[in-house]
Amino acid sequence: MHYDLLISGAGPAGLCLARSLSGLGLSIAVVEQQAADAIENPAFDGREIALSQHSAATLRRLGVLERIEADNPAALSPLRDAQVLNGPSKFSMVIGHGLTSRSELGWLVSNHLIRRAAWQEVQDSIARHGDITLIAGDGVAHVSTDTEAARVTLASGATHSAQLLVAADSRFSPTRRAVGIGATMHDFGRTMVVSQVEHELPHDHMAWEWFGHDGQTMALLPMNDDPASGAHRASVVLTLPHQQMEPLLALDQEAFGAELTRRFDRRLGAMRSTSTRHAYPLVGVYPRRLVAQRFACIGDAAVGMHPVTAHGFNFGLASVETLARQLGAAHAASRDLGAPEALARYQRLHRLATRPLYEATRIVAMLYTNDSRPARPLRELVLRVADRVTPFKWAIATSLAGHR
Ligand SMILES: Cc1cc2nc3c(=O)[nH]c(=O)nc-3n(C[C@H](O)[C@H](O)[C@H](O)COP(=O)(O)OP(=O)(O)OC[C@H]3O[C@@H](n4cnc5c(N)ncnc54)[C@H](O)[C@@H]3O)c2cc1C
Repeated sequence: MHYDLLISGAGPAGLCLARSLSGLGLSIAVVEQQAADAIENPAFDGREIALSQHSAATLRRLGVLERIEADNPAALSPLRDAQVLNGPSKFSMVIGHGLTSRSELGWLVSNHLIRRAAWQEVQDSIARHGDITLIAGDGVAHVSTDTEAARVTLASGATHSAQLLVAADSRFSPTRRAVGIGATMHDFGRTMVVSQVEHELPHDHMAWEWFGHDGQTMALLPMNDDPASGAHRASVVLTLPHQQMEPLLALDQEAFGAELTRRFDRRLGAMRSTSTRHAYPLVGVYPRRLVAQRFACIGDAAVGMHPVTAHGFNFGLASVETLARQLGAAHAASRDLGAPEALARYQRLHRLATRPLYEATRIVAMLYTNDSRPARPLRELVLRVADRVTPFKWAIATSLAGHR
């Protein structure tokens, strides 16, 4: 089959791009290697996604957040403030919502709920416009592009072509690799484990990023209290060198909760692990290019962020918006979707929007995971100085919540 646009990967980025472009008169195919059932009812994957106000507005426009809230009004938790802590020190640098005109910096919502709602919105687009074809249970295995079209062969042997092929198939994107685009990868040599917890003391909707002195980093993402029991809830992300993580993954729920209580220094009282645990390798990826002949990448395939700044999907949505704008304009002007000028503009804009934070995050993560004796006082000093530089904190707060 020939389509105007073929998207590889029905993760949140691929689905949001298809939804954004639906109704314009384009024919769109989305190819996903997982079975249809797995994308229709995605399993809980531990990730609680911090959405900036801009991303939340984008997801509202696409119908995704309304759908999540309609199913469960408590699913969206406000992220009012954020604090950064260093080692055993009681000092914290706080980024408060008071620096902005909003009553929260952003929102937290589970990744699997975003995936499910995005899938349902695509189903709604199909019912309304009939312009999206979903090909599930069959991954992109081979790619070739020329001046005429992008052509893909799926694992089943089926072949399809399109004016433009878009990779939305994760930070290790096999499609990006297949078109010959290399990437700079930074393996931090650590594993993150994510789990939901109940804890004794309220978190006041404050997110934590706590750089320990013993190779560990802990993040706490505040969730709404359990509507039935009133228990205080949060998602915890514990990052450790691979070998230290293995014994923790083997603990039973009770022992794991006790371990988190100890690692969080009882600052929120006793913690109880209430969900499955999910482990992810900590690898940052920045591709050398975001476009090639009749090809573009979006989402994590375009920028694979370190999660410390919670910007991966926020950047993913930014890539969707920027590319959709270019493609919408090209289509409205009856131009080819694979025209190199529009792709080059997308690449320039998205790299400008992401590269500075990608590099800054990498440097911050390297400094704050350096436990050497000279680095420890430097880490504390940088945090205390940063806390006094209001324009710096304001820049972070407004990057999440927007300008006054
Ligand atoms: C622990 C953790 C916490 C995070 N927290 C935040 C946060 O607070 N805020 C934030 O903004 N971001 C956060 N992120 C990042 C966020 O989860 C990702 O940016 C986002 O999920 C990426 O979406 P995606 O659609 O680009 O890719 P993915 O979700 O990786 O989806 C890719 C899809 O492509 C499919 N695929 C792969 N290969 C093929 C193929 N050959 N053919 C067809 N299909 C294929 C896969 O099956 C999958 O469905 C976090 C990430 C982690 C790991």
